[in-house]
Parts: sequence; structure tokens; C-alpha cells
Amino acid sequence: MRELWQAGENTWYVYSRNIFGFYQLNETDVCMIDTGRDPEDIEFAEKVLADKGWNLKFIINTHTHIDHIGGNKALMAKWGCPAYTTRIERIFAEYEELEPAFMFGGRPSAEVREVFKHPGDIGFRDIEDFELPDGFEILHMPGHTFGMIGVKTPDDVWFVADSIMNRKALKKYPFGFLINVESYLETLEKLKGLEGKFFIPAHGESMGKEIASLAEENTANIRRHIDFIAGCCRGGKSVDLVVRDVFKEYGMKETEIQYTLVASTVRCYLTYLKDAGRMECYSDDGLIKWKTIDGGTI
Ligand SMILES: [Zn+2]
Repeated sequence: MRELWQAGENTWYVYSRNIFGFYQLNETDVCMIDTGRDPEDIEFAEKVLADKGWNLKFIINTHTHIDHIGGNKALMAKWGCPAYTTRIERIFAEYEELEPAFMFGGRPSAEVREVFKHPGDIGFRDIEDFELPDGFEILHMPGHTFGMIGVKTPDDVWFVADSIMNRKALKKYPFGFLINVESYLETLEKLKGLEGKFFIPAHGESMGKEIASLAEENTANIRRHIDFIAGCCRGGKSVDLVVRDVFKEYGMKETEIQYTLVASTVRCYLTYLKDAGRMECYSDDGLIKWKTIDGGTI
């Protein structure tokens, strides 16, 4: 069930599995912030535009994961409007197989390619070259992806995308996908100091005015994963055995799709630990293993 909620004088969001927003630029024109994933999201967005008598002028995508750009193709074609995102996010979106290949660490199977496939060159533009309307602000929030941004509307409403997990997700699916542990933690620090009247993460409940305590809980969640993986590797372990430990610890489904996400994320934690001097990588009779060592900076 999708519903339209008002977050500020001219800022609206659609409560869905993948939350997306509208900002009313003037009497008739709006822009969207993300476009959801499912066909029902597109239908609902079209209904909102029709009911309100709004014209869609452009879209801002916080990042180009498929659950944020699902409506782009249809909406951009219908309204003849561009979509802006950061340069690196645009590149991922334009090359259908780049994201699945990055996640898998090589070309994955057709099943995995299909799930993570991007739309191709449908008219994305670089937000770096776009003069945002007065009062808009973007904040670089890397870590979950390379070029994710938060978007603040002139009403002081922040769309903070996947920079933060909601409390339900922290309990149920705490081992979230990321591409860089260090920058993910830095982005959480930025969130803790962010001023705004209303914060809207892309999944789960909207947060209202207060986001710092949830950001704190997210930091603790990441620290727990760091310690867990460091603990797994006390005696030296291959990546796949760490992935098995993560599957068990967090009660995750052991499927090829989940493996693609988890193995990619596990490698990022191993990298983080190694770069901080807490992990070494070595060959044990030809099997590459990762082993926690004493010391380090974290
Ligand atoms: Zn995402």
C-alpha cells in the first residue's frame, strides 16, 4: 500500500518499500528524488502527478541501485525530462553489466546479471554539471555506493537514501551491502551533525527531525561486523569460509544472489581491517587466507 505524505511545505514523499520524493518547484512543476523500484511505484508516481496536475521537470537520483531508479526509464520517456546523479553513479547506470560484475568480482551468471542489471543509457546527466534550483543542497555520502548523495530540499527536508538503516532492518538484516567500510562510517559521522527539519531514509520509516541516535546505532552495527569478522579470522580463513560464518551469524539465505552481495561486502571488511593493520593476507598451501593480527589503528 503506497501513500503520499507531506514532509515540508513543498516536499512530499511516497511511503513504499523504496521511498521516493517530490519537490514542488512552482505552481505546476515538480522534481522527483529517486523513483522507486516496482511497477506499482511507477503507477503511483504517475497517479500523484496526474492528481496534483504536476509536470515532472527532472529527477535527482541519490544513487543508481535498481531500487532507486526503477521508474526512471518510463517517467523520463513520458515527461521528456532528464535525471541527474553523480558522474560515477551515472556510469554504473549506463553500463548494464558493470554493477553485477563489480559485485561479483567478475562476470556473474545470467541469473545474477538479471537481478542487478542497470537500465543502460536512458539520458542520465551528471549532477556536478547541474545548477540546482535555489535552496537545494547535495551532500556526498559514499560508502554504500561510490557516489551516493543525500538531497536537501529548500524546506530543509533531507532524503538520505541508503546511508542509514532503519531500526527494523538493523534487527532483521543487519549485514547491509557496502563498498567501503571507512567511507560508510565517515558518512554516518556526517549524518550525526546534519541540520534539518525532517530526514527521510530510503527504506523503512521516515525519521522526523532526529537522526543522530539512529546514525549512532548504525555505527555500532558496523563496528559489530568489524569485530565479528576480526573474530572469525583469528586462526586464518579463506573468504568463502568468512562468508559462511556471516550467513550463519546473521541468519541469511544461502543463495547465489545473497552470496554475491555478502562476499563483496565481506571483502570490503577484510580490506578495511588489513589497511588498518589488523589483518594479514597469506597463502596456506595455495589457499589465500586472511588472519587477524594484534595491533593496528582500529
Ligand atoms: Zn542502495
